[in-house]
Amino acid sequence: MKSKTRVLVTGAGGFIGHHLVKRLKQEGYWVRGVDIKKPEFEPTVADEFQLLDLRSMENALQATDSIELVFALAADMGGIGYITALLAQIARNNVLINANTLEAARINGVRRLLYSSSACVYAGYKQNVTDLTPLKEEDAHPADPEPGYGWEKLFTEQLCKYYKHDFDLEIRIVRFHNVYGPLGTYEGGKEKAPAAISRKVALVADHGEIEIWGDGQQTRSFMFISDCVEGLMRLMASDYCEPLNLGTEEMVSVDQLVDKICDVAGKRLTKRHELNRPQGVRGRNSDNSRLRRVLGWEPTVPLRDGLAITYRWIEGELQKAGRVEAAQVYASH
Ligand code: NAD
Repeated sequence: MKSKTRVLVTGAGGFIGHHLVKRLKQEGYWVRGVDIKKPEFEPTVADEFQLLDLRSMENALQATDSIELVFALAADMGGIGYITALLAQIARNNVLINANTLEAARINGVRRLLYSSSACVYAGYKQNVTDLTPLKEEDAHPADPEPGYGWEKLFTEQLCKYYKHDFDLEIRIVRFHNVYGPLGTYEGGKEKAPAAISRKVALVADHGEIEIWGDGQQTRSFMFISDCVEGLMRLMASDYCEPLNLGTEEMVSVDQLVDKICDVAGKRLTKRHELNRPQGVRGRNSDNSRLRRVLGWEPTVPLRDGLAITYRWIEGELQKAGRVEAAQVYASH
């Protein structure tokens, strides 16, 4: 990739998209951001930011006009509560966004398109235990992905391959495993576990109690945002067009995740496990063998370090809004 290449980031008002725009600008690219909303916590640094709904083909054509590289990150998505509640809405919205983006990229002569898929494409029957074998890329088949959100991701991976087959569009396909970090949504229903737990911990006094979804034994791996952006840059610059895991192999249970965040916060809290809340698959971890082989690199930020940065940022936001003090006062009564 060369400087002053014209790059489109869809979903640039979102968590990963906003961080990626910052990185691309640091490296001297010309960047257009597209989203239905502006970034939530700070202004964009994109050269152009267009508020466009990519469910419309006309908008997708406008977004991809005069663009060489596309990072396709736009999606209707959220945490496990959100994606398990809204199957039709999420699948339909994302099919429209991605079918339009691919077709518009083809019509406008885009050189390369990177599609952001997810570990939610992996087969459910391979994720029934907490100490599971890490997932290799081929574990997505025979297919049994997450309903709604995961099926759409798996289908769009395939659609990307068809665009390569029929039109020679250069495609890249990344499968993210739980990305977290500052400047991500931490409340309102779309937040993921690290942000939701950080918010709960910040808003409770020492020795208080917090609600945890599920029995806390479900396992995951979590990748810090700087590693995610580094991986995206490397994959886009590579010549690899098959799906690729991008995550860490540092698997923890949700209870261990909570303990690490409590540690960072310097609080001792009681966990109240809510067994009726959605908790997703029983276990999930990334096998990075292919990532190491293809990119000669893998994420490096230890979970404890990334969580410390993320927790401090969320706590700071809540403090600015006067909510941390309010919670402590309430707890002392
Ligand atoms: P995010 O929700 O913060 O960002 C997605 C953005 O897409 C949002 O800003 C949203 O407004 C925008 N969008 C939604 N509908 C749109 C539409 N119709 N037109 C234009 N923009 C629209 O999510 P994120 O965490 O930044 O995720 C980015 C991508 O990575 C998504 O495709 C997501 O599915 C994928 N992913 C993320 C994770 C993770 O842990 N964050 C894990 C797996 C996959």
